[in-house]
Amino acid sequence: MPSADTFETGPIRPPSESGSYLLRLTRNCPWNRCEFCRTYKRHKFELREVEEIEADIDAMARIRDRLLARAADGRRVAVTTDHEWMVANALSHGGTTAFLQDADSLVMKPDRVRQVLGHFRARFPEVERITTYARSRTLARLAVADLESYREYGLSRIHIGMETGHDPLLEIIRKGATAALHVKGGRNVVAAGLELSEYLIPGLGGRELSEGHARDSARVLTEIDPHFIRLRSLTLGPKIPLWQVFHGEEARLTRQTDVEVVAEIRRFVEALGEVRSRLVSDHIMNLLGDLEGQLPGGRDDLLAACDRFLTLEPTEQHLYQLARRAGLVNGLDDLADSGVRRRAEQLLADALRHGPSGVDEACREMMLRLV
Ligand code: SF4
Repeated sequence: MPSADTFETGPIRPPSESGSYLLRLTRNCPWNRCEFCRTYKRHKFELREVEEIEADIDAMARIRDRLLARAADGRRVAVTTDHEWMVANALSHGGTTAFLQDADSLVMKPDRVRQVLGHFRARFPEVERITTYARSRTLARLAVADLESYREYGLSRIHIGMETGHDPLLEIIRKGATAALHVKGGRNVVAAGLELSEYLIPGLGGRELSEGHARDSARVLTEIDPHFIRLRSLTLGPKIPLWQVFHGEEARLTRQTDVEVVAEIRRFVEALGEVRSRLVSDHIMNLLGDLEGQLPGGRDDLLAACDRFLTLEPTEQHLYQLARRAGLVNGLDDLADSGVRRRAEQLLADALRHGPSGVDEACREMMLRLV
């Protein structure tokens, strides 16, 4: 019999939460104006009622209990609905992590957040990590005492889309935050003893603002000292408003090549102060998928990983770029596989038929297919 239990989920979660229970506290984004983001465009922001969220938690718990009971009886665990699949997916990853949706969950009133977290913890005592997205503006307004209380109620980590610490660029992308606000919001999270993951978009400022983007992002993140710095590549399609800034009639910024973006990442890593952050490149759109290291000790290795790509012969760079964008490799070592290399050579031959810029154009097209 299919289960009648259902619960609501939002459209996205960070890659690191692919095996988590998804719990929707609010719908869509209360800001919804960032020029590079289409996720919630045309969708109105809504707070959800606590009772509604609690009903979702109860439904998830019933599904979990049913799936676990069948497994304990040695019966085949048949998953018949999307909701069962989502719970089964979380269980298959251990069933110990959860992610609160959507874009800015902590915009809910603190008492309500505590009520929801309390209910979730009562139904899912086995969950060890609860994380959420939140905006710097919201976090800057929250009292550290409230954030501390969320930690006591089980919240462990907050993901912030900082994107850049360069004020002129924050204005262009209409982030609704300044560098100072990013620092305040991030520091509140760290002061409350919560883990913090800050997202940076390499390439966001184009050639014109690349220096400022790398330098000020490093300065802001040094002041915050988050637990994680996550790289998320700029992906632009014609339907994204920021496209006009790069490709419209009055374009102000010039897209960088992959090589220029890696050089920018290198400058950023070099400019970071003595942070204790883990730098992670865990997004399918990132060119160097295996760029990862613990700062400050791992700085030299991170720089060496950038240099390894930057000092390759142009043909090797092109082969790697195309193989990566085609989803054939995660890091440079993977190009040693003869089958992968053959496929990359075919892609390169095709791309070069369109002239010298063919590689970058082919890469952008392949990236768009992944959006
Ligand atoms: S705050 Fe986040 S979800 Fe909202 S528009 Fe900006 S990037 Fe998109």
